[in-house]
Amino acid sequence: MLLNPYGEDAVNLAADLANRRPESAVELADRCRAAGLTLERRVTADDLSRSQAALNAWERIVDAAGEQERADLLNRMLAEAAAYPRLTSHPGTGWHLHYRDAEQPLGSVLFTLFAVGTALHLAGRGMHRLRRCEVIECGRAFADTSRTGRQRYCSHRCANRDAVRRHRARTAVT
Ligand SMILES: [Zn+2]
Ligand SMILES: [Zn+2]
Repeated sequence: MLLNPYGEDAVNLAADLANRRPESAVELADRCRAAGLTLERRVTADDLSRSQAALNAWERIVDAAGEQERADLLNRMLAEAAAYPRLTSHPGTGWHLHYRDAEQPLGSVLFTLFAVGTALHLAGRGMHRLRRCEVIECGRAFADTSRTGRQRYCSHRCANRDAVRRHRARTAVT
């Protein structure tokens, strides 16, 4: 996975894994691979628990009360992930930056990826562009990458669901 300037793939992977938590190391590995991550080592139960902790920290950032709290929480995550960035190349990718030490287990890679990707996303697109779906019983976290920055639902499905419900509510009172 290449971190683009807005961290989009990384923040989307965090949302995907947070909304539907992987139940095993194998599932974690499969879903990371499907998202384009190159896995350097065997994925273990440690990676699973480390990534669950990273996802918990990430969800606190989603649910932060305001921009300052959001920045503080994210800065704490970045501090924990801290390593100097380095130029790296692996087969098929070409040269790019890694924000972590080499040869890290997947759990640590994900922790750093979520922190850096989310920081790039918020700094690049706006601090408010991380929230939960407005359909109450959905409540999925998502990164708002829309043009306007006013995305209210996690998916078209939820947007439609809410439109139908609002329409019904309107017709019920008349
Ligand atoms: Zn790489
Ligand atoms: Zn939703």
